[in-house]
Amino acid sequence: MKKHQNPAEWNTNQLKDNWLYWVEELSEETGHVVPAKRIILQTESDPEAMFIFQSWQNMRPEERVKSWKKLLSITQREAENPLPACVQCGECCRRGSPTLYMEDLELLKTEKIPWNQLVTLRRGEPVRHPASGKTFFLVDERIKLREKPGTNTCVFLNETSDVCTCTIYENRPLQCRAQACWDLTAYEQLKDQVYLTRRDIFAEVDVLLDIIIEHDKRCGFEKLHFLFQQLERNRDVANQILDLVAYESHFRNFVGQQLNIPEEIYDLVFGRSFETLISLFGCKIKISGDTRYLEVIGTVEEDPKKR
Ligand code: SF4
Repeated sequence: MKKHQNPAEWNTNQLKDNWLYWVEELSEETGHVVPAKRIILQTESDPEAMFIFQSWQNMRPEERVKSWKKLLSITQREAENPLPACVQCGECCRRGSPTLYMEDLELLKTEKIPWNQLVTLRRGEPVRHPASGKTFFLVDERIKLREKPGTNTCVFLNETSDVCTCTIYENRPLQCRAQACWDLTAYEQLKDQVYLTRRDIFAEVDVLLDIIIEHDKRCGFEKLHFLFQQLERNRDVANQILDLVAYESHFRNFVGQQLNIPEEIYDLVFGRSFETLISLFGCKIKISGDTRYLEVIGTVEEDPKKR
């Protein structure tokens, strides 16, 4: 392990690696309340720390040991005293996109937040908790901003430089405005807010509300859960799961086309497709020629505390 090596022998790159490793541990100790990136940005702007990084290569071995200890104490201090302001480290926005509340409805109506960047998480849907990584099942519907593919990062986070920016900063949702890693007070007060649902967004479009209800009835997650429970005892149920997944896909495409719903907002209207979520049930669909197979790849860990 890097941290057991002797600092006197490190070159500048090794110093940086060991320090980053240590910062990660420090952030972990705070339960990631103080993000590692924030500790890094704060420490790197400290004049003494800057001097250590810049002059490390020319230091004598005994100076390096002393400087390493000094660097650790500066870092510890910065972790314990996060600046009461956003340093634009971007970590909040990487831990997951925001969930929307009723108060955000105006941002949608005025299209300050485009509809094609929204996604519905339906009741019963398996979701990975951003902090624990565990899968849990939603007890109620949520509307969220999309995340960058394969990550938990909000689509509106601009990460092109060290300092991250929000591309809809002036019109960011309530949860983002309340988020402050140095003070959780405003964030904790969100528990009194009402979550936004598709009923609120499409309140004036009866036909769409009917379709949403019908889709939930025919392709609800309860059905999928039930079949996966059966699958544990009877592998023949795999075909029923594949049929349901195919039916859900057909429903969204058929109804979407009939009603001229733009494909880019299917994930808002119908929620995420069964097909894209199948891995969260510990399975994947394999295709060989015209035949589709269900392959079991793991089990879903449920975390009731996170419901
Ligand atoms: S909307 Fe902006 S502030 Fe909110 S999570 Fe996305 S990038 Fe961050």
